[in-house]
Amino acid sequence: MKIGFIGLGNMGAPMAANLAQAGHDVSGFDTQTVTVNGVTTASSATEAAQGADVVITMLPNGDILRAVAAQIIPVMKSGAVFLDCSTVDVDSAREVAKDAEAAGLLPLDAPVSGGIGGATAGSLTFMVGGSDKAYQTALPLFEIMGQKSVHCGASGNGQAAKICNNMILGVTMIATCEAFALADKLGLDRQAMFDVVSTSSGYSWSMNAYCPAPGIGPKSPADNDYTPGFAAELMLKDLRLSQQAAEASDADTPMGEAATDLYRRFVEEEGGKGRDFSAMLPRFESRGRS
Ligand code: NAD
Repeated sequence: MKIGFIGLGNMGAPMAANLAQAGHDVSGFDTQTVTVNGVTTASSATEAAQGADVVITMLPNGDILRAVAAQIIPVMKSGAVFLDCSTVDVDSAREVAKDAEAAGLLPLDAPVSGGIGGATAGSLTFMVGGSDKAYQTALPLFEIMGQKSVHCGASGNGQAAKICNNMILGVTMIATCEAFALADKLGLDRQAMFDVVSTSSGYSWSMNAYCPAPGIGPKSPADNDYTPGFAAELMLKDLRLSQQAAEASDADTPMGEAATDLYRRFVEEEGGKGRDFSAMLPRFESRGRS
């Protein structure tokens, strides 16, 4: 396929490289000067998008997505797929999809989980919103860039799935970290705590697969001085999107709200920026109740 790829950052560059490696004709554009193995460098977003069967965007936020969409929708080939893999607010995803559909394009929102490691290894998970026709057209590309894709329904539902998942993740990571800090204060050995919780009803991905305590459980960023992994500020971004969506849809999300506030304080006031989101454990460890 002829593919335009816009946004060649930490995630976009390896995703574009994997598509080129698999034999697709990829033309890439980023506002920074970036060269990606096997990808032709375009001089603008419109140049990358023109004539492409699929245009993929991997951008920082909804405002930038809307701006790029306004440039490329008018020049895209009729019937082409506009595949946005960025994590953005549900409203931006739905509005961009509406504009794309009105122009005769096939829009998909398909945010990912799996991080930079998953983007490089081609093992991302895609959560996809949009029509069945668009999903079927993009499926071979999901299979190159990832190991799993889930079609979640209409436009915006991919973003909805992503922020609901990450709201659960933020809340359970905090719960896991505060429980470890409590266990420490009660004199409970961390290995014993892990052995019990990881096989009991408190288990979760945060405990079992990404244990925030160094030296305990499988290897995780805690074993590398909390170098991300998944940075606390990216968790904060996703939590904020969850609260924006909760506000817009009148959903009661008290735990999501509390997690957003804790990660905001951690990132903005407590030195958490640039650390893995599991570094909540040393944060709780160093504090008392007041
Ligand atoms: P990044 O900042 O490394 O990359 C974004 C790229 O977009 C940058 O290279 C930037 O120069 C480029 N860009 C900005 N404005 C542009 C424009 N108008 N035209 C063309 N290019 C433009 O970010 P990233 O880590 O690659 O993340 C991209 C998206 O993926 C974000 O929405 C993020 O939330 C999501 N995401 C990231 C991770 C992760 O672990 N990094 C995991 C899952 C999802």
